[in-house]
Amino acid sequence: MKQNNLFKLSPKNIEELNISKLLVFRRCPFEYKLRYLEKGSLKWEPKLDMNLGNFLHELVGLYFKNKIVHNEKQDIGRLFESKWEKEKIRFKEHQEDYHAKCKYIIDLFKRSPIVRTHPLASEYKFRKLIREDMYLTGRIDLVSKTDNNIQIWEFKLDEAELGFIDQEHKKFLQLIFYYYGIANAFGELPHNIGYYFFSSGKTVLLEVYPDILERGLQEIENILSEMKNTKEYIPKINNYCPSCGINKICPAYNK
Ligand code: SF4
Repeated sequence: MKQNNLFKLSPKNIEELNISKLLVFRRCPFEYKLRYLEKGSLKWEPKLDMNLGNFLHELVGLYFKNKIVHNEKQDIGRLFESKWEKEKIRFKEHQEDYHAKCKYIIDLFKRSPIVRTHPLASEYKFRKLIREDMYLTGRIDLVSKTDNNIQIWEFKLDEAELGFIDQEHKKFLQLIFYYYGIANAFGELPHNIGYYFFSSGKTVLLEVYPDILERGLQEIENILSEMKNTKEYIPKINNYCPSCGINKICPAYNK
């Protein structure tokens, strides 16, 4: 793999590369500054949809973990109702709406091809030394196997973050990063990378090819170099703004 050469270009003072931070910076430097550089002073207000996204990630994570440990078919509907009873307070006075939303999403999930894959790891944390002074870190929603192919999956509530990105290596950047993060951890290199969108039940699965990996790494270098040279963290209006936890205090969003 050629990543060592490319990652040599990255700033020397960064010890850990986490793709979530890079993606937030790419999406909006102002959001990045408030979330990661000044987080002590930030009044972060998670939106209900963000709670929904977290709730579904946890639910599906548990579903696959149980499947891996007990090797048995689960009833995700029952798993949901039991989790819902304990945690519905997260949805404040909108519990009825969100309960109906979740049920609809779970019905879609039950019919998705993802439930037919063989899960190898759920919410898989990695920390991989990429050069003498730098680690790649992250948590992968699902690593699964099908027809001898290793697949890496990332779950998203919807396509808001990705809908406006047209180039493949940029759209799949998070998953390319994960590809390098786990490499041969499951006995072979992953063949496919894909997103599953809870709200629509849609999957976007891509076969990994060398060019997309090269471009993805170059894109990571570009973001790192931009981060290094940024003096002003300017707000960048984008599709994610309505769900952004700081949109109430964002000068660009409230114009
Ligand atoms: S509302 Fe939009 S522009 Fe403002 S900080 Fe959030 S993502 Fe950036």
